[in-house]
Amino acid sequence: MCKQKPRKVFIETLINNSLSKEFDSAMFEWVGIGKLESNELGFKPHCELCGAAIYNENYIIYNVKTKKKLQIGSECMKRFRSSHNNYKNKHPQNFFRLRKWHAVEKRKRKLIDLYHLICNQGIPEPDAFQDFSKHLISLLKISNKLSLLNTSSGAARVLTTVLEKTDYSPKEVLRLQLLLDSPDAARKIYIRASRKPRKKVDKYGIVMG
Ligand SMILES: [Zn+2]
Repeated sequence: MCKQKPRKVFIETLINNSLSKEFDSAMFEWVGIGKLESNELGFKPHCELCGAAIYNENYIIYNVKTKKKLQIGSECMKRFRSSHNNYKNKHPQNFFRLRKWHAVEKRKRKLIDLYHLICNQGIPEPDAFQDFSKHLISLLKISNKLSLLNTSSGAARVLTTVLEKTDYSPKEVLRLQLLLDSPDAARKIYIRASRKPRKKVDKYGIVMG
């Protein structure tokens, strides 16, 4: 185990995001719920507890009292081993529900990104469309919601709840309705992107214009 006392910034950030204001008990409010690889959306290049650079993967820790999440590096994760195991053993059902929630959220972020991509293509390229379709169908399957695609009100619900669209066109609804039975017809529906353009950034990450 880690013999060294954590850095001051670790302790402060931990306590600020925990219910307990006492370090040892605050530690026990946290459980690991999954990871994010460096090529995945939302990856953070610095540990949110100690600030160290992270190259490979973020560990996601979740506070069961404050419902806050932090993305941390593997060294900091080691400090949570006993609190993680403690929660997992005491509340196995909650633990697995949290892990599933994280996995679904991760897939949802990826799916929204794929949807933006195909909406920017007018008539999407076959590979991109297939990729989107495959991800959407599998996400709906694991949440037992595939039948939503059978009706226009269901398809509209997929647009607002899964793809997080605030406004959408009737063609977008129709495209989702055709997805299961006529995927090729679905792809050939021309949809003009209506979302606001993203701010352009140059290769140094500086916003232009
Ligand atoms: Zn750290």
